Amino acid sequence: RNTTGTATANSPDGTAAERSQGELVAARGLRRTFNDSPVLDGVDFSMQAGQITVIIGRSGSGKSTLLRVLAGLTEPEDGDLTIAGHLVRKGGVRTDDYAKGEALVGMVFQSYTLWPHMNVLDNLTLAPRKVLGMSRSEAEDRAATALGEVGMAHHIRSRSTGLSGGERQRVAIARALMMRPRLLLCDEITSALDPPVAAEVLSVLARLKNEEGIAVALVTHDMAFASKAADRLVFFSQGRIAVDATPEQVFRGCENAELRSFVEAVT
Ligand code: ADP
Ligand code: MG
Repeated sequence: RNTTGTATANSPDGTAAERSQGELVAARGLRRTFNDSPVLDGVDFSMQAGQITVIIGRSGSGKSTLLRVLAGLTEPEDGDLTIAGHLVRKGGVRTDDYAKGEALVGMVFQSYTLWPHMNVLDNLTLAPRKVLGMSRSEAEDRAATALGEVGMAHHIRSRSTGLSGGERQRVAIARALMMRPRLLLCDEITSALDPPVAAEVLSVLARLKNEEGIAVALVTHDMAFASKAADRLVFFSQGRIAVDATPEQVFRGCENAELRSFVEAVT
């Protein structure tokens, strides 16, 4: 519960601080090849609860594939994955328990994925109601709370075609919050936005971390956000994590020459 006494979309129990304890993601030896090339080449990746991890790296280095594997959208060929204590994959194969872990993961994509012919409320409530059988009142309560968390409550009845790009991405975040994830995966969600609008969308993520204890993994080229808000910076190179450090360490000048030239190129 938050301090105003209203239930928030992501507070089924405990405070943000309590929910942010411990290791949330533990991936070991993730492998995935496409067309005979190793896109994930034995990736070890972990995340602590309530942290923002920014993932950077050249186009084609495997960033999206990692997020998609964490979300259960891409099958790895090998690797173990534990999410919030639930072993979801063993040797690449889903365990019987996978749904418990994957249910705690939400994902937001670069391209706008809202239904254009529906209003914002219906965009948020459709899947929970039709796929999960959530009641209309529960779905609408959650939608109102989730929209509040991204600063879009006043647009609940708006048609998504009438929204700006930044507003659409905030609604897309709210839609991911409907299932009360503990881990939010964001894949270049601001690449199509102007810098000030992008900054506004990314500030929503920092607020979700601080107020709800949600862990965020964000693929972005936005080094300003990375230096301000990231707890960790992970640099992907050729299907492997080449550097995993704090932003301070990276921006102070890290030893990896490839990362240094990457950071120089995008800043
Ligand atoms: P990044 O997000 O870092 O740009 P990706 O994870 O999207 O990299 O892709 C890494 C490599 O894997 C690219 O060469 C891409 O073409 C390939 N790839 C990703 N998904 C698929 C797919 N579904 N089918 C074939 N190749 C894919
Ligand atoms: Mg990508």
